[in-house]
Formats: sequence, C-alpha cells, structure tokens
Amino acid sequence: MSLLEDKTPSRTPLSKLGEFGLIQHISKNFELKNDTSSFGIGDDCAVIDVGQHFQLITTDMLIEGVHFDLTYTPLKHLGYKSVVVNLSDIYAMNGLPKQITVSIALSNRFPLEAVEELYEGIRLACVAYNVDLVGGDTTSSTSGLCLSITAIGEIAKDKIVYRSGAKEHDLIVVSGDLGSAYLGLQLLNREKQVFESNPQMQPDLQDKDYILQRQLKPEARKDIIDLFESKGIVPSSMIDISDGLSSELLHLCSSSRVGCVIYEEKLPIDFMAISTAEEFNISAATCALNGGEDYELLFTISQTHYDAIKDDPDLTIIGHITDKSHGSVLVTKDENHQPLTAQGWNALS
Ligand code: ADP
Ligand code: MG
Repeated sequence: MSLLEDKTPSRTPLSKLGEFGLIQHISKNFELKNDTSSFGIGDDCAVIDVGQHFQLITTDMLIEGVHFDLTYTPLKHLGYKSVVVNLSDIYAMNGLPKQITVSIALSNRFPLEAVEELYEGIRLACVAYNVDLVGGDTTSSTSGLCLSITAIGEIAKDKIVYRSGAKEHDLIVVSGDLGSAYLGLQLLNREKQVFESNPQMQPDLQDKDYILQRQLKPEARKDIIDLFESKGIVPSSMIDISDGLSSELLHLCSSSRVGCVIYEEKLPIDFMAISTAEEFNISAATCALNGGEDYELLFTISQTHYDAIKDDPDLTIIGHITDKSHGSVLVTKDENHQPLTAQGWNALS
C-alpha cells in the first residue's frame, strides 16, 4: 500500500498546517551550507551573494481552476499577470528584475494559437518591465494549464530590504489602493454564473474597467522602487501584497518581531471598489484587508521620511509599528481596537 492510499489515523491533513505551517514544516530540516546562500526561505525572494551585489530569486506557480479561470481570463492577460506577480516579489526586496524563466504544462486542448496568445502577454510584460526571457520548460498536462515562472533580479547590498527590519515607531505605508482586484474577481464570477444559467445574457460590466483591470491585468510597483531611489529612501521593511493586507502585515510583524496599529479609516480604497462592495453587500474595508492579488507594496519607514512621502498620492500611511507586546491591532472606524487576523488567501485551507 502506498503512503497516499494509507488511511490510518496518523495521517495529518495539510489543511491542519495551512500553507505557511507546511512551508515551515518543510524548511526546518534544511540548513544553508553555501556562503553564497545569503538568505533562504522566508522572504519575498531568496538572496544569493554573487560578489558585488545580491541576486534575488523568486518563483510562483499558477494552476488552472485554482489561480485562474480561462472562461473569463484572456490568455494574453494570464501571460502578462503571471510575469507581473513574480516581478512584484523582486520589487518587494527593493530590487530590479532582470530575467525570467517560464515553464508550462499544456493539455492537448490548447492549440498553437492559444500558446501564442499566452506568450504575447509574457512578451508584453518583458517589454514593460525590461526583463529577458532566458529559459524554461515545456511539458504535457493531463488536466489544465500550469504555469510556473521564476524571476531573477539584482539589488545593491546596502539597499536590500527584508521583511524583518521594521522598528517600533516606524510608519506603515501602502502604495496604490486595496481590495479592487478581489472585487474584480467577484464581479467576473458573478457574470460567469449569470452566463452559465442563461447564455443569452450579456455580461453587465459597465463602468467597472478599473477593478477588472486590477484583477485581469495587474501591474507591479516598479515606480515606487524608482521613487525610493530618487528620494534616497530605503524602507526598514517591505513585502508585496499578494494574499491580502492583514496577512502580509502579520508576516512583516512576525519577521520583524514587532507589533502594529493600523486604522480602518486610513485604508486606501478606490471609489469604484467601494460602490461595487456595496452592490455585493460586503464591507469594502474587509476586501482591502483580506482580498488578495492587489500586488501593491506594504513597507515601513522611519518617521524621518514623513515629509518626503506625506503628499505623494500613490502612498498612504495606514498606521505605525509598536512593541511586540502590544500585538497587531486594527482600529475600526468606530474606534474599536481589535486584533488583526489573517483571513487572506491560504493555498491549503
Ligand atoms: P510570496 O507570497 O511572497 O510569493 P510565499 O508565501 O509563496 O511568498 O512563500 C514564502 C516563503 O516560502 C518564500 O521564501 C518561498 O520561497 C518559500 N517557499 C514556498 N513554498 C516552498 C516550498 N514548497 N519549498 C521551499 N520553500 C518554499
Ligand atoms: Mg511576496
């Protein structure tokens, strides 16, 4: 009998550990042996010491039916997005991406034209972010499409930003706005259901371009990394928001061994996201806190940088770092102090 068939009670369901518990469980038996392996598991990228500078490496896998639905995701957009989500992790270390590799598994339901569409999206992202496609792997799949992309980047040794450097009193800042990508997904799922029950119905997506674009064609915040460079700012810590603000802020606080306070009323939310959340009868703040895939940057800076960023329309100060003993706190609009909890995307829940 194979391990997979063994149904004895000693088997532990993966949902019990969750995605992060599982990663911790896997990684605890691996030690870094090479001097060049500067930082391994636990940040947005692995960090390799190549001499003059650090090399950054990150990888992400996207599975049809789990991460994307081809009934409403154009393959060109999928190609573009799958590159962007990796580049976002390089920017989250304050680095610049240089190369990608792309591995795909395809079933025979995909014709050449579909693969061409996918790669056109990949090419457009390579042009937009100035990265080179330098390799990959191609294989077959018995079910859907699987895509795995690895991005390689660079950062000067004195400019690298980890999740672990946040200090008490630092300001907590996010770029752009939050929750829109999640609401875009809710909209697409709703229209898919309407279409499935009545194929004559035309999708009702009027005036929703922004949130749809946030879901289907997100961008990585290279502009914010450029802004840091031009203003001479090196954040004390940073992470990109792929799984929801709460979850990422908790990662940042736990890596930095600090607590935090953020204010619900300060969360940057686009007006279209607010009106769409009302349509769905859900709280826009909940979407901002727990909805994923915004690919904005969440970072902390010392208060001395306050003047340099306070008037930037792309940056919002949402709170500050506290001592670990204070925990991680969300102050709601009605002044309630509640513990920040991660309800974001967990691959194994
Ligand atoms: P992100 O959301 O920034 O892409 P993840 O949550 O996917 O980061 O991963 C967190 C950390 O765990 C990263 O350092 C990543 O490289 C590592 N990691 C994830 N899955 C595995 C795995 N199966 N084996 C080893 N390391 C992993
Ligand atoms: Mg990340």
